[in-house]
Amino acid sequence: MGIYLANGVAEDAVSNHLLGPLPDTLRMRSHTTESGETVFVAEDEGDRGSKGPFYVAYGTAAREDKYGWFCSHCESVDNAMDAMGRIQCNRCGNFRKPTEWDAAHE
Ligand SMILES: [Zn+2]
Repeated sequence: MGIYLANGVAEDAVSNHLLGPLPDTLRMRSHTTESGETVFVAEDEGDRGSKGPFYVAYGTAAREDKYGWFCSHCESVDNAMDAMGRIQCNRCGNFRKPTEWDAAHE
């Protein structure tokens, strides 16, 4: 399986992989953004948010071209991560606190 180290967040994904290895495509589902782009949501890669998990979204089903985060609560990719690793959904306010890994890395 391909472990893709891109913009930092992917290292979170690596540890999730080690905890529960799954075929790369098994837990992917496609999602069409408001601007009409198709992204692929890795439902085994993510982190808990205040209202529901955030999942990692990729530009391809092969987990390449990392797109950002997918909010499972309102099913959108309209969110932002700050330098501390916090993720806030712009739509529903779902919020992820920074992880230890992010704090150590940023
Ligand atoms: Zn949301």
